[in-house]
Amino acid sequence: MKYSTKQIIVITALIIILSTIVNAQDMDKVTIVTTELSSSIFMLEGRGGNIAFCKGDDGLFMIDDQFTGLTDKIKEAIGTGNIGIVNFLINTHWHSDHTGGNEDWANLGSIIVAHKNVRKRLSEKQLIKFFNNEVEPSPADALPILTFSDEVIFYYNDEEIIVKHFAHAHTDGDAVIHFPNSNVVHMGDIYFSGAFPFIDISSGGSIEGVINAIEQILPTLNDSTKIIPGHGKLSNKSEMAEHLKMLKSVKAEVKSLVDKGESEDEILKENPALKFAYKWETGFIKANQFTKFVYQSLKN
Ligand SMILES: [Zn+2]
Repeated sequence: MKYSTKQIIVITALIIILSTIVNAQDMDKVTIVTTELSSSIFMLEGRGGNIAFCKGDDGLFMIDDQFTGLTDKIKEAIGTGNIGIVNFLINTHWHSDHTGGNEDWANLGSIIVAHKNVRKRLSEKQLIKFFNNEVEPSPADALPILTFSDEVIFYYNDEEIIVKHFAHAHTDGDAVIHFPNSNVVHMGDIYFSGAFPFIDISSGGSIEGVINAIEQILPTLNDSTKIIPGHGKLSNKSEMAEHLKMLKSVKAEVKSLVDKGESEDEILKENPALKFAYKWETGFIKANQFTKFVYQSLKN
């Protein structure tokens, strides 16, 4: 059967409308769970990357905003009704499960802050090769209006909030946010607690960058630090140290196989990450996929 151009346009439009309705209904079912980490810092879990927000006399400061369609629920959870707008919104990186609400928040008056590569990637069409997912450029309002290269520090709500970039980790625009006064850190997707991490090689990520970031951050934390991962449950220093050991072990083994001259297929067959699957194959990244990220990083 052959379709005319007009029929194809109508069918495509119907698919878009239907998927928008399904997405909206999907988000209706999401419940936002709030966990108090200190008197001023809270973690929110809904759908997408974990959110942190800080409230106090100066107002509201938020990290990440999950998917499009969740803004009303997030507003309710953080209580903007009583306190007013979120003054500052940080994006830990460009992925839409962390930045999907940007346009809504900007329209409500938030100043969106991110590493300069977040703005660049949100401004242009992207392809996340791992999911074979093409992402259209974001509307102008959704873009961060304040960007930085290495670090920016906020003095807000009696907190020193250190927003620091780590190069080529989960992507090429990651930021980790540290609240030393409250002893809380938000790792963005550099850290998936209790799961193999997704490394977005096509967005400039690499295993070396992930290891380097965690190695630099760990000594700045202590046994009481509350670690918010990009995905997964609230974590702590000993869990992140164990995670780092796993990453380094898989990387060392894949590297020795690469050095021996083994091909990608041979390395994937040996799958050095498999022995860690009992504990870390809990999310959407399987052991062989993690081995592949490590191989691709070393080959790049
Ligand atoms: Zn991500």
